[in-house]
Amino acid sequence: MADRLNGKIALVTGGTRGIGEAIATAFAQEGAKVIVASRKADNVAAAVARIREATGGDVHGVPLHVGDIASIPGVVERLVAEHGQIDVLVNNAASNPHFGPMITVDWPAWNKTFEVNVAGPFALTRAVAQGLLDSGKTGSIVNVSSIMGIAAAPWQGVYGMTKAALISMTRTLAVELGGAGIRVNVIAPGLVETKFASALTESPEILAGFVQRTASGRIGQPSDIAGAAVFLASDESTYVAGHTLTVDGGWSIR
Ligand code: NAP
Repeated sequence: MADRLNGKIALVTGGTRGIGEAIATAFAQEGAKVIVASRKADNVAAAVARIREATGGDVHGVPLHVGDIASIPGVVERLVAEHGQIDVLVNNAASNPHFGPMITVDWPAWNKTFEVNVAGPFALTRAVAQGLLDSGKTGSIVNVSSIMGIAAAPWQGVYGMTKAALISMTRTLAVELGGAGIRVNVIAPGLVETKFASALTESPEILAGFVQRTASGRIGQPSDIAGAAVFLASDESTYVAGHTLTVDGGWSIR
């Protein structure tokens, strides 16, 4: 176990699978106390056990639906009372219920996408940042966007809008909170092999298109994203603020 996150208390939403679990695992390996959050209590319990087993780290969990914004202040308050002030927040959980032409989206799918991908991260950021401000502590907030928030996102248009909103939110909050020592940055992953991306990775044509365009000649694995999150969470990035860190194997350079 290394020590780049020694003494830090990190909350990772969507930390029970895929990219979030890889980030939580890397954080635990780097000495952070880690709290993983996702909707399903059994997923939370299983992930806590897996990450403890893999890292020997100080790992905890909480069931949390990030789209349920009314519940967020109370959940954060309870976590802080139990574990101490959260100084690293990773807004990683997301939803993408509509896969198809943008103009065919229905309003329930639109609302769900914005609730989970924008309102939830904002509510969590607000609750954690307020706690940091009140306690006079510094911190790091890492949002997980997507290359679909930077490039056009055919068949994922509303999702892409929410991921673009996260980039805008990151920049403004970095300015508003930076003076208090709270850094806000955003990672924009390319295509990563997870359950979330299965509609893309299980289509041979779409998969081949991504691989062909990616300088690294392959799609990403969840662990490919974790190093960027460790960097942005740690004191190695103390002068990095409001930055969009693209981790896409070079997909977006063409
Ligand atoms: P994943 O493997 O499907 O994992 C999603 C995680 O989020 C799970 O732990 C899930 O657990 C949790 N989750 C889902 N909805 C939630 C909600 N409403 N509240 C709280 N937790 C929730 O997905 P992933 O691919 O790792 O995606 C993680 C992030 O990376 C997302 O922000 C996604 O937009 C972004 N991203 C992914 C890719 C990619 O190609 N995979 C590319 C770019 C960006 P429960 O089911 O227990 O809630």
